[in-house]
Amino acid sequence: LARAAGHDQRRLFDPDEHAHRLARHEIARQLPLALQRGELFLEYQPIVEAGTGDLYGVEALVRWRHPRRGVLGPAEFVPVAEQTGLINEVGRFVLRTACAQAQQWQARNPGHRLVMSVNVAPSQADDPQFAGDVADLLSHCGIDPELLQLEITESSMLSTSGQVTETIRTLAGLGVRVAIDDFGTGYANLANLRSLPVHTLKLARQFVTPFAGDTGRVDAAMVDTIVRLAHGLGLGVIAEGVETPEQADTVRRLGCDLIQGFRYGRPQAPQAVDARLRAAATPVVS
Ligand code: C2E
Ligand code: MG
Ligand code: MG
Ligand code: MG
Repeated sequence: LARAAGHDQRRLFDPDEHAHRLARHEIARQLPLALQRGELFLEYQPIVEAGTGDLYGVEALVRWRHPRRGVLGPAEFVPVAEQTGLINEVGRFVLRTACAQAQQWQARNPGHRLVMSVNVAPSQADDPQFAGDVADLLSHCGIDPELLQLEITESSMLSTSGQVTETIRTLAGLGVRVAIDDFGTGYANLANLRSLPVHTLKLARQFVTPFAGDTGRVDAAMVDTIVRLAHGLGLGVIAEGVETPEQADTVRRLGCDLIQGFRYGRPQAPQAVDARLRAAATPVVS
């Protein structure tokens, strides 16, 4: 009992918690300005074919070049943006920027059909305007809808409003690819998976790197089960968080179709992807 009481007290007066709350408050205050000042930017992480290692696409990942704190990762501000409702505006910036970049890559490398994968926050997927915004953006950018993949988290699908499934249906109707992100962590309704026009499951990273400091291991039972489920439903599987050659071999052996992870490239500036696309292109012999 004493221990439980002590625990409660620590919770009430936790200085870390207080600092944390202040930091979140600061972030919430500064983020609208950051959007206006153009401090947000995207990095792109390669997604490769499991069989060949060829570049299949990239995932756009948002960052914030904070004037005093340096570059902040999404973990530091995306959850805050979700709480304050600013995530929809952040999401519009991300989608616009990613599509403009995809169009540029498509124009410069017509032979390479690079897929652009973009994260969609739960409140975006739950926004009745969202799919229409995507349609407008696609026609504005002139990119092939099949080259846009939208990642909806498994936990978004818990929303009972019916809007998320409606969004997924409309997006698929546009020809956009829909992936379920962090699959295996959000208790998605499996019946939904069968009835919805979803194309791909992205395995949650913890199945690929289940034990901190033990980077050679993969939770093979989970990966195997999810791959069978996906393939049984006609869906593709992306293994995320692959860092070592052993992990790559294992997820390949277990049948994952695509791989994303530090082993195949960190999230990087668009110029670095440019260089990769140039290297992949067949040299022209004159
Ligand atoms: P996610 O969508 O699952 O993205 C993959 C995350 O895993 C990225 O972290 C990426 O850098 C990291 N990662 C990839 N390969 C490896 C690896 O081999 N090892 C390790 N340790 N990590 C790897 P990042 O960029 O910090 O993003 C974290 C999360 O923030 C994302 O998880 C996504 O949920 C969210 N996020 C990022 N960008 C956006 C965005 O534009 N909109 C929304 N709504 N969320 C975003
Ligand atoms: Mg993602
Ligand atoms: Mg993921
Ligand atoms: Mg995630």
